[in-house]
Amino acid sequence: MTDPARPDVAELERVELEQTLEALGARRFHARQLFRWVYRKGVVEFDRMTDLGRTLRATLAEQVRVSTPEVVAKDVSTDGTTKFALALGDGRRIEAVYIPDLPRQTFCISTQVGCAMKCAFCLTGKMGLARNLTAGEIAGQVRVLARELDLLELPFNIVLMGMGEPLHNYDATMKALRILADEHGLAVSPRRVTLSTVGVLPALERLATEPLMPNLAISLHATTEDMRERLVPVNRKYGLKELVDACRKFPLKRRSRITFEYVLLDGVNDTDDDARRLVKLLAGVKAKVNLLPLNEAAGIPFGRPSDARVDRFAQILTDHHLTVMVRKSRGRDIRAACGQLIVEGPEKSPAQRLAGLMNGN
Ligand code: SAH
Repeated sequence: MTDPARPDVAELERVELEQTLEALGARRFHARQLFRWVYRKGVVEFDRMTDLGRTLRATLAEQVRVSTPEVVAKDVSTDGTTKFALALGDGRRIEAVYIPDLPRQTFCISTQVGCAMKCAFCLTGKMGLARNLTAGEIAGQVRVLARELDLLELPFNIVLMGMGEPLHNYDATMKALRILADEHGLAVSPRRVTLSTVGVLPALERLATEPLMPNLAISLHATTEDMRERLVPVNRKYGLKELVDACRKFPLKRRSRITFEYVLLDGVNDTDDDARRLVKLLAGVKAKVNLLPLNEAAGIPFGRPSDARVDRFAQILTDHHLTVMVRKSRGRDIRAACGQLIVEGPEKSPAQRLAGLMNGN
């Protein structure tokens, strides 16, 4: 293990890295080279950074580190979707998913170990929240997956739809997006990033003021306060009506729209009346709707509606001029689909597991 007290290059934006280099007696411009090695080439060993002088490489090797999530398991689905289990510096594990698609590849990454939101149909929610990820751990998932799959040269999209609630880990998430956007690194434009959230309102208001603004997806899932409280417990704090009002005011670039995600649960929130209420609710919002027929799993007390029901629900929305997509479910055979990311195996110590059992978890 490298010394955790050393500055970690993975946690730094380029300006911060410049300051760190200066403090080590090196020149600021080497930060660009370091960004290029770490993010564009996926190289984290200083002795391989051949355009840095020998003395500088030696200083860096002694004085700083680049922590990188380690791939501990990789599952490939029949549709090409690949789920990665990644181990972090403290041994905790997270999951990140690669979704092959033309013309663009998508990386689905995590922002927390577990999640505190406890949505009734989501497996990740059942884990509870272990901890927030750092900016370096969030951005690191992209560079590790891209390197692992040899995709560093290809254009890709990023969706913050893995484990965790990004607006519950605001600062680290935004810092990760700044690191990923750096022109000397991966140069991922925020237009290629989608942040999905249950709608933590104060954080959503902050997001509205960000210079680097990702696309926004809202996990709505219900059309009445009662139903949303049941499915998305945070609704007790930040209600449906308030959330949609905040979306109505959210500053959007020309032609861009907010995506509303709506998981369809058989006989629960998938009736014609729900569809009509959804139309009314979204009146005046620049919206598109993403329907997600439930990905079923043991321990989730809901069922997936029939295709006919999904089509009918979608049709009502389309008839009222809403743009609708029914999300193809990718990677279900390897449990990499929405809401199915949950870490199995040794992410918890035996003592933690025991404590969990005693608390009835
Ligand atoms: N916490 C954020 C990011 C997770 S995104 C959020 O909730 O938006 C994952 C998306 O998949 C969310 O819309 C989530 O509600 C949805 N989802 C969770 N469990 C699911 C399941 N079993 N089937 C289909 N979609 C699910």
